[in-house]
Amino acid sequence: LTRLYGPLTALSNVRVDVMSALVSFDRVFEVLDLGPGIEEKPDAVDVPAGSGRIEFRDVHFRYPSAAEVSLATLEDVVTLDRTESAPVLKGVDFTVEPGQMVALVGPSGAGKSTTSMLVPRVYDVTEGAVLVGGVDVRDATLASLRDTIGVVTQDSHLFHESIAENLRYARPGATEEDMWAALRGAQVADLVAGLPDGLDTLVGDRGYRFSGGEKQRIAIARLLLKHPSIVILDEATAHLDSESEAAVQRALATALQGRTALVIAHRLSTVRDADLILVLDEGRVVERGRHDELVAAGGLYSELYRTQFAVGSAPPAGDGEIEVV
Ligand code: ATP
Repeated sequence: LTRLYGPLTALSNVRVDVMSALVSFDRVFEVLDLGPGIEEKPDAVDVPAGSGRIEFRDVHFRYPSAAEVSLATLEDVVTLDRTESAPVLKGVDFTVEPGQMVALVGPSGAGKSTTSMLVPRVYDVTEGAVLVGGVDVRDATLASLRDTIGVVTQDSHLFHESIAENLRYARPGATEEDMWAALRGAQVADLVAGLPDGLDTLVGDRGYRFSGGEKQRIAIARLLLKHPSIVILDEATAHLDSESEAAVQRALATALQGRTALVIAHRLSTVRDADLILVLDEGRVVERGRHDELVAAGGLYSELYRTQFAVGSAPPAGDGEIEVV
């Protein structure tokens, strides 16, 4: 996912209000980029505040080819022949109801990250539609879409600035009290309080170096400050030490509470708790349901469960597994 929420390459498309875009979204939960050609329509409408519903309607998607990307800047795409890249999503249909936690699982390359990126409109669908709060994301104002959605990826980015400044990207007007509340919710307040300069501590290469788990919790604190109604989460696959892992899990439980969540799931506890699991394979949802029914069905999910969730990166059920509480 990180790779896909890559560096800012499409700033030309967001020249209108770069700073507010950066503050409200791009620089906060990873450098969430706009793909080529993503622009707000002149008559765009706001996604209703607090929207929690996500709908995918027969979504087909292929990545713009390199030729299209460079041609797009010449605004010349339509008239020229081009080699099409392979389709990545081939008719994805699902609905996430407000407050639900939906887990995306599937083999590597199945299209999980791609699916998650279409919600904040990093790219536009090739066919079909993605709706947030009943509004086709292509018709939505980018600001309202960004206010509605928060993203936490595996490699949370912190800037070489103070902790307070890093947090204020999520909410420029946040008071110290707001920040401490968010840090507490994210299980990282004690750590920050113990630093000599507290919230004014500089972070990054030349400042205080947070561990992976700590960085992730700072990212979760940003999420709590931003207060989006929809959270897109790419669960960490990397091993954190167990203390840090437990803290991240508690922080995430707080962050997801009462919100709609679309989670690229790598943890057994997540798939067990999910209201709905969508099993993606080669760009299609091949199975959907809850954990127990999918295990019982004996299809791809039950195989993934055996190979990815029950063994390997995640510990076996009930044996050292840190449950989301
Ligand atoms: P993983 O679990 O390995 O992260 P995934 O299920 O998230 O995989 P995606 O990352 O969505 O899968 O990738 C789906 C397909 O799209 C893959 O074949 C991948 O190579 C391709 N793909 C991903 N990003 C791009 C891109 N920027 N340009 C072209 N193709 C891409």
